Amino acid sequence: MVAKGTRSRTLLRNLPSVDELLRTAAGRRYSAGLGESAAAGAARVVIDQLRGAIVDGALDDTTREQFVERAEQALLHDLQAEAHAGVRRVINATGVVIHTNLGRAPLSEQAREALIDVAGYCTLEYDLETGKRGSRGGKAERLIAELTGAEDALIVNNGAAAAFFVLSVFASGGEVIVSRGELVEIGGDFRIPDVLERSGATLREVGTTNRTKLADYEKAISESTRMVLRVHPSNYRIVGFTTTPAREVVATLANKSGVLFYEDLGSGALIDLSIAGIVDEPIVADALATGVDLVSFSGDKLLGGPQAGIIAGRKELIDQLRKHPLYRVLRADKLGCAALEATLLSYRRDTASRDVPVLRQIIATAAEIGERSARLIKQVGPLAKLKVEIVDGVSAVGGGAAPTARLSTRLISLSHENRSAEHLERALRMGEGPVVARIERG
Ligand SMILES: *Cc1c(COP(=O)(O)O)cnc(C)c1O
Repeated sequence: MVAKGTRSRTLLRNLPSVDELLRTAAGRRYSAGLGESAAAGAARVVIDQLRGAIVDGALDDTTREQFVERAEQALLHDLQAEAHAGVRRVINATGVVIHTNLGRAPLSEQAREALIDVAGYCTLEYDLETGKRGSRGGKAERLIAELTGAEDALIVNNGAAAAFFVLSVFASGGEVIVSRGELVEIGGDFRIPDVLERSGATLREVGTTNRTKLADYEKAISESTRMVLRVHPSNYRIVGFTTTPAREVVATLANKSGVLFYEDLGSGALIDLSIAGIVDEPIVADALATGVDLVSFSGDKLLGGPQAGIIAGRKELIDQLRKHPLYRVLRADKLGCAALEATLLSYRRDTASRDVPVLRQIIATAAEIGERSARLIKQVGPLAKLKVEIVDGVSAVGGGAAPTARLSTRLISLSHENRSAEHLERALRMGEGPVVARIERG
């Protein structure tokens, strides 16, 4: 005990001071990056940790130089962690095109330019023609109506907000009929039964998990029914012995019974993507043409734009939403409105499959991707001990869209003589310009 206490007292005298640590190369780098007071705070924490380790007898270091070196390393580690925290640009090499953790849809050049252009003052709610107040998102809403055949549309913050908004305004205090096969969790804790309950509506489940018939809906309709809700099952599919009545017949039933028919489309494709093997994603215009009163979908899934929730359908219903006090809580911001408008303009010009990265990536053939892979490998040049190959592989659409679609592709495969796959994955992720890759077959 006595010997240990004496030893640690000696060692403690060799600890650098905060000022000393701040004057080292690491200390100066930290100050330059994050400011002097943050650097002083970090230096204090590092020295405290060293002091604790000395008292616990957990350090072999003895000299001042050793302590300084260890403290500098800790400071640099801290600085790197700070640099990695927050929202940062990455390269998505996961093979999932719409990756929710990586910011979903990458924006088109046009959308990027548009949002930088409106970053200052802009006509968010101002009409240049009249010099008076204009409507937020007005142009994007007109474009949605034009592209989907809807009477009108409304832009809110995201797809979840759109669903909650429609249910709160039109179903609160009444019953909503939903097929048991559609009571899904989308991810991120967005569960249809919970959202329904929060909106003040009562859930009336009909049918079974795999089979729901028109008669099931028919029997459930009563005085208290406000709405028939249909939900796109997103990243979940029931295959085999299944049945769901066609939209047309549900629409006719809802209409005849005087209740609303609303469909949460999830992704909401604006154009047909069967060329890429995507056949089970509803096209917004088709859904509306079958007599659905309202649909909603996300802006940053298959549409390939910014985060947004888009509600489209009958004008009289959209008007009610637009005038509702909740709209003020859920409305989109100027950056989103501008980027969505620019993305939709690509659709109107018929250049979306070229402009919009999500579409471009989904449509790209394996041969094209293979050529790009070869060019990239050539640019980087040979790497010591790394085996670099181009191999066949499969990508996914992601974002809850077309979970069964497999996009065939070519992959750049990396393996190392004596480093593990985990080591390589981490090195790619921790480098300057982080690359988020995936590990397959070790
Ligand atoms: C993704 C999704 C949502 C949520 O949309 P966000 O834009 O992520 O808020 C809601 N419903 C369905 C069916 C979805 O697929």
